[in-house]
Amino acid sequence: ERAREILERTKERETNKLGIEAMDLLDAYGIPTPDSAIVTDKQAAVEAAKEIEGNVVMKIVSPDILHKSDIGGVEVNVAVEEVASTYDDIISRARNYQPDANILGVQVQEMADLDAGTETIVGMNRDPQFGPLVMFGLGGIFVEVLEDATFRVAPVSEDEASDMIDEIDSAPLLRGARGRDPVDENGVIETIQRISQLVTDFPQILELDINPLVATPDGVEAVDIRATID
Ligand code: ADP
Ligand code: MG
Repeated sequence: ERAREILERTKERETNKLGIEAMDLLDAYGIPTPDSAIVTDKQAAVEAAKEIEGNVVMKIVSPDILHKSDIGGVEVNVAVEEVASTYDDIISRARNYQPDANILGVQVQEMADLDAGTETIVGMNRDPQFGPLVMFGLGGIFVEVLEDATFRVAPVSEDEASDMIDEIDSAPLLRGARGRDPVDENGVIETIQRISQLVTDFPQILELDINPLVATPDGVEAVDIRATID
């Protein structure tokens, strides 16, 4: 029901793109997301950061800016005393980049543990022949460089989701290569299945990417999403 509301709200807008403001969509399908708040002034940003505790990540929220870090729209590891000035920096970079962008605010987000974790990507696009193709691969910079990804037609079963992890060349990275602790594979499998369910329930989702889904030994966290809605 919540997912439906989020998608309907999008239809009322001028764009069919959803960005980081759609984190609730994942939440509605039980995919873990870091604590976060979207704020529209710097005082509220500071309050949100205090609420989260520890350093935070700050991101531009705009359906017109889907590649946020390309324009300086993401700052990681921001200490609370830097939050107010970082808020101004992020907004002014976005305005410079695209003066007519519809800026909804800034997201203040809890930090994911990237030291213990690996950035993966779970995505979907609709193939004219096969229908909804769910994708899994390594995220971050690796996804473009290695082109190491695998696909299944939704709905994806638990076994299929598990096979998807086996199939990528970088599977050893998730399974404790170089003395690292193996990541929570069940969390990855569940996320693949939940995305598969979401895009099966809502044919109007044409495209969707969680990039990254941070996978750590303790679980997974979706820290970024973008989607195209019909
Ligand atoms: P975009 O893909 O639009 O540039 P992201 O939200 O994916 O924006 O952020 C860019 C990068 O910043 C991520 O790939 C990740 O490396 C880092 N990052 C984003 N959010 C977090 C977070 N909550 N914790 C730790 N690192 C993060
Ligand atoms: Mg991203």
